[in-house]
Amino acid sequence: MSNDVVIIGGGSSGLMARALLRGKSITIERGGEVGRKLLLTGGGRCNLTHMGSPGELEKAFFEKKNFVRSALYSFPPDKIRDFFRKIGVDTYSDESGRVYPKTGGAVKVRDALLNEKGRIYLDSRCTSLEKRGDVFLIGTEKGTIESKYVIVASGGCSFPATGSDGSFFKILSSIGHDIIPRRPALSPIHLSDNRFGKLSGISISAVLSKGKIREEGELLFTRNGLSGPVAENFSRNLEGKDSFTLSFTDDPDSLTLDGNALVKNTLSIPGRLAEVLFPSLCGKKTSELGKKEKNAIRTTLSGMHLEGSSTWNGAMSSRGGVDVKEIDPKSMESKIVKGLYILGDALDVDAKCGGYSLTFAFSSAYLAAKDIFSKEWPEDSFLL
Ligand SMILES: Cc1cc2nc3c(=O)[nH]c(=O)nc-3n(C[C@H](O)[C@H](O)[C@H](O)COP(=O)(O)OP(=O)(O)OC[C@H]3O[C@@H](n4cnc5c(N)ncnc54)[C@H](O)[C@@H]3O)c2cc1C
Repeated sequence: MSNDVVIIGGGSSGLMARALLRGKSITIERGGEVGRKLLLTGGGRCNLTHMGSPGELEKAFFEKKNFVRSALYSFPPDKIRDFFRKIGVDTYSDESGRVYPKTGGAVKVRDALLNEKGRIYLDSRCTSLEKRGDVFLIGTEKGTIESKYVIVASGGCSFPATGSDGSFFKILSSIGHDIIPRRPALSPIHLSDNRFGKLSGISISAVLSKGKIREEGELLFTRNGLSGPVAENFSRNLEGKDSFTLSFTDDPDSLTLDGNALVKNTLSIPGRLAEVLFPSLCGKKTSELGKKEKNAIRTTLSGMHLEGSSTWNGAMSSRGGVDVKEIDPKSMESKIVKGLYILGDALDVDAKCGGYSLTFAFSSAYLAAKDIFSKEWPEDSFLL
């Protein structure tokens, strides 16, 4: 017997699609439990969305902002919060706009989604997918399931132990989709030169740039390189070992390098960082500096050239995945295979840190569920 809808992957987007389809779907999940990545979000606190208008939010999706627009307008943060409130998860937003559950963190979010209707087959990895006529044949380790619609919610490549290890992209490719090569995103930056290693734990406001790309925010030095929001948001731009610029000021001429104070106390950067950057100058008084030395300080602080790479180890997200040109942004339906919908991290969409990835996971699920609902059960009202 053919089922109405099969959801492949019981992660953030799959669980949302299942909840919105209200018992009209079957979810197949390769792991022994659902939502393993969801449980890690926000360090277990689950930053489930970000307040702001869809127009503000779309900027967090880099070059994919046009593609995500429909999803963000259809299921914006206030509607997401409203949905979670209705299923028992009250939320609050912090001063930066990040939204979290008031109590219970990620476990509460996962369990509330899980409490909604819809059969789930655990330990059921999907191993093949094909469409014959109007019917999808979904091969699993436990047998073949048939369905009229398929929602792919198999995730990206980061934190493979959560079940999203990128292996499903082969199957999506076999059914005709182009897969953009994956690279780590929202990851720490591993520096080729370890001169900052001893600064591990120090944070400072900084700018990272490469050509016209520029990210500004809090930087954290680590044993191997750079982390913190600015490094994480910037990491997606590094291709293999790549060059980029680190600066601590946009206006080097505003640095007053006159007077009797020690150089290290006049630079508006932590003293330990000054010692690493200017070991031979730090102990001098600024009045003792020559023109050449002052210029060297200004040049370093306003744009130091570094080489480094993003790493899968610690990456919270991935670039790459199904090419969004092959997806209808209004429904998340594939333009290659009708009746197939692709959500969340499985698409070539990534975002800044701050609750945006989950917002897209949920809003892409909303569009797919709504589209299927309107085709199959037009007389039923869609949202709870
Ligand atoms: C450490 C960490 C912290 C994060 N924190 C945040 C945060 O606070 N806020 C935020 O917005 N985002 C955060 N993210 C990102 C967010 O978790 C993801 O964007 C989101 O979970 C993507 O949802 P998804 O449904 O596309 O994929 P996933 O949640 O990864 O789900 C994919 C599911 O598909 C299953 N699957 C894969 N292949 C198969 C197969 N062949 N057969 C059956 N099942 C399969 C997997 O087992 C998995 O359960 C974080 C990510 C990480 C790693």
